Amino acid sequence: MTFGYNKNDMATSDPVVEHNVEGRYYVDESCIYCDFCVEMAPDNFAFDQKEYAYVSKQPDCHAEHERMSELIDGCPTESIGDRLQRHEEAIDDMGLGVGSTPKSLSGGIFQMVARWFTKLE
Ligand code: SF4
Repeated sequence: MTFGYNKNDMATSDPVVEHNVEGRYYVDESCIYCDFCVEMAPDNFAFDQKEYAYVSKQPDCHAEHERMSELIDGCPTESIGDRLQRHEEAIDDMGLGVGSTPKSLSGGIFQMVARWFTKLE
């Protein structure tokens, strides 16, 4: 079972919805079936039979990434998560983020994480 993330307006510690496609964004089971994300981004979200939204297609262009950020902010239950943001925050929490290490090192860490997530999409 995979769990989401509970920090700063993002998906919670609820289990991640099983039908999410692999990749950066996901929905967890705190979803209340309000229809907001599915209505606003039908190419990226759908509902499963348990009445949870899930990410049906990861964003593959700038406009879809922008829309995803808006939906993360707009989801009333903070059920939509961003694994890349989660990892950047974890790096910051460990004191390895920008400002705590030489820029070239922290930039390298972010690039490494970003490349890893790009492979997942
Ligand atoms: S906006 Fe949030 S609560 Fe509403 S359907 Fe989407 S994931 Fe579920």
